[in-house]
Amino acid sequence: MRAMVLARPGAGALERVDRPIPVPPPGHVLIRVSACAVCRTDLHVVDGELPHPSIPVVPGHEIVGRVERVGESVDGLAVGDRVGVPWLASSCGSCEYCRRGQENLCRNARFTGYQIDGGYADYTVADARFVFRIPDEYGDAEAAPLLCAGLIGYRAYRMAGRARRLGLYGFGSAAHIVAQVAAFEGCDVYAFTSPGDREAQAFARRLGARWAGGSDEAPPEPLDAAIIFAPVGRLVPEALSRTVPAGVVVCAGIHMSDIPAFPYRLLWEERVVRSVANLTRQDAREFLALAPRVPVRTHVSLYGLLDANRALADLRAGRVQGTAVLTTGDAEP
Ligand SMILES: [Zn+2]
Ligand SMILES: [Zn+2]
Repeated sequence: MRAMVLARPGAGALERVDRPIPVPPPGHVLIRVSACAVCRTDLHVVDGELPHPSIPVVPGHEIVGRVERVGESVDGLAVGDRVGVPWLASSCGSCEYCRRGQENLCRNARFTGYQIDGGYADYTVADARFVFRIPDEYGDAEAAPLLCAGLIGYRAYRMAGRARRLGLYGFGSAAHIVAQVAAFEGCDVYAFTSPGDREAQAFARRLGARWAGGSDEAPPEPLDAAIIFAPVGRLVPEALSRTVPAGVVVCAGIHMSDIPAFPYRLLWEERVVRSVANLTRQDAREFLALAPRVPVRTHVSLYGLLDANRALADLRAGRVQGTAVLTTGDAEP
């Protein structure tokens, strides 16, 4: 099988290798990948911004494919089932976080495309307890962004609380999904893009944003909450300065540049800054049930599997509208 591999930490690019098709161990399934979305986290892995990736590693944690082979002692999955594989590859089920419903913070969690091989390949292996059926309403490629941009975006959206006026900083893959969910639930969405990025602003308005402008601009009304998807620390005080008392600012990315010092008055009056880490399987169940009801429509740019480096470069340069998705040639519409 073909696989795109990060061969050394921080290499900044992937190499094509040919490998034998893996055999699923007990409790796991072998999946024939049809589509894998490209997440900003993949860029952080490839560029060496996250510590201790397993090397070599196949990135990719927004995987859609069909079960090709079932390992021993797997319940509820059969050959031919269409499934999705997210960032959370496994959790221990016994640590204090797992026991209280926060498996996203599990001390022994493993993550797809970072500590174990992911979906930038023709096949991947996944723990059967951590894969999800894909709603029938979606084709393979359009479903792929639901698995991280959707799931973690949805977790961040819930952490923002009941905001009537919601700001989204960075209008990429996750924000283009969250904007649709928020508009569906009656929020007014304010989209903040790189200053001067008129195309992204027009895209946000088409997806239901009430207002779109640069991240250095004041929205026409103050915000009840903001979610920061861009990996840019200076947006934290910027977003705080746009929120009302008791407003919430959620940092949704796994990596961010340093947050500059800011005056305490920006946090005063019970404003909250928090991060969102990873996802739980409950997030996935809730979001995959909600998405077709909205209905969330994902906007994808397709690349061949072997064009993974071009997709990463386009994401790095801000040239992707919606989500870049790699396809192996097996994607079903
Ligand atoms: Zn991701
Ligand atoms: Zn645990």
